[in-house]
Amino acid sequence: MTAVLVVNSGSSSLKYQLIETDTEEVLAKGLLERIGQVQGVATHTTPDGEWTMEPALPDHGAAFDAMTRAFEEHGPTGLAGLVTAVGHRVVHGGARFFAPTLVTPQVEKDIDELAEYAPLHNPANLAGIRAALAAFPDVPHVAIFDTAFHQTMPPEAYTYAIDAAVAEKYRIRRYGFHGTSHKYVSEKAAAFLGTPLEETRTIVLHLGNGASACAVRGGESVDTSMGFTPLQGLVMGTRSGDLDPAVVFQLARFGGLGLDELDDLLNRRSGLKGLTGSADLRDVRRNADAGDEAAQVALDVYCHRIKHYVGAYLAVLGGADAIVFTAGVGENSPLIRERSLAGLEGLGIEIDAERNASAERGERRISTDASRTAVLVLPTNEELEIARQTVSALAA
Ligand code: AMP
Repeated sequence: MTAVLVVNSGSSSLKYQLIETDTEEVLAKGLLERIGQVQGVATHTTPDGEWTMEPALPDHGAAFDAMTRAFEEHGPTGLAGLVTAVGHRVVHGGARFFAPTLVTPQVEKDIDELAEYAPLHNPANLAGIRAALAAFPDVPHVAIFDTAFHQTMPPEAYTYAIDAAVAEKYRIRRYGFHGTSHKYVSEKAAAFLGTPLEETRTIVLHLGNGASACAVRGGESVDTSMGFTPLQGLVMGTRSGDLDPAVVFQLARFGGLGLDELDDLLNRRSGLKGLTGSADLRDVRRNADAGDEAAQVALDVYCHRIKHYVGAYLAVLGGADAIVFTAGVGENSPLIRERSLAGLEGLGIEIDAERNASAERGERRISTDASRTAVLVLPTNEELEIARQTVSALAA
């Protein structure tokens, strides 16, 4: 038996999954939180149970030590013999990386340089890579970039209409994110419909804490709602999504806000949190049901923005074979699905209320049989996609 260790390293947390290479079975998964603080929290889950620990997690290296100990204590044991490769999620690959890439000292340097575009994410991803290289020095490490899938976007979709020389100098363009999920889910959609991927047009709505829409034609991203950074596009848990850039000038000029405050406002204190006080859609829903007007408005804004992108991508694709909901909100909220696509019957999009409300899990169709565009709920699995891409990159 061999396995791929999938690592998703954030600034204060580290998620991992150990995935068996042939069967794709999850042998173990875990989450280490509060890295950088004296007292961390960790959970380790295997088919035999779940364990919670409170290791000291001063840095990412300590997090890897804690992870290794969790494997030794709760299994599967013999990790060194089991793991044949490590796959790492990296948020920003800029215009440099468009495929899974074997980590070399030069690749580490490049990821470090790209931190300029993703100051919150890339340094944390790199800290995870370096700690993993120290913990597993004898196996290949592969970097899988969130931006990679979107490198197929045409210039008209990725170009911002600003001074071309300035854009060129600072590499300002749309990059797009959540690529691993959009790729996985759009391939699932073609398989679900039984149509060849090359002939399938899909709109993927990845609605989690972060959220983005993607227009996929023939298995390739042709447009996506996130932009230069993951701040653009849909309303998110704490991010504003689309905004007139002049709002930033206004707040700086008249509100006296500095760059860091603006960054904090738009990335961490906006979206559902800014509108209602809570970033969790379940709270917003509960409050809206209880008559809270701000929460009701937030749901309206959230769904309106999704509908706006669905319309845009129907036009970009010239119609869609499937609209797919995925991630935390997309997979679990019939209300958001229903309201985002309400009134689109004239465009051949018709949700079946009963199918949409069903407590059924897993892959399912929620549109009526007459709906020209199929509306699907397809659970995403970014870890599995990273494991698959890691294996195929090494086989190539
Ligand atoms: P993700 O980033 O994919 O893990 O999604 C996380 C988000 O999914 C949370 O912030 C919740 O707002 C949302 N979520 C999870 N479960 C539900 C649910 N049952 N109904 C509505 N939203 C949910």
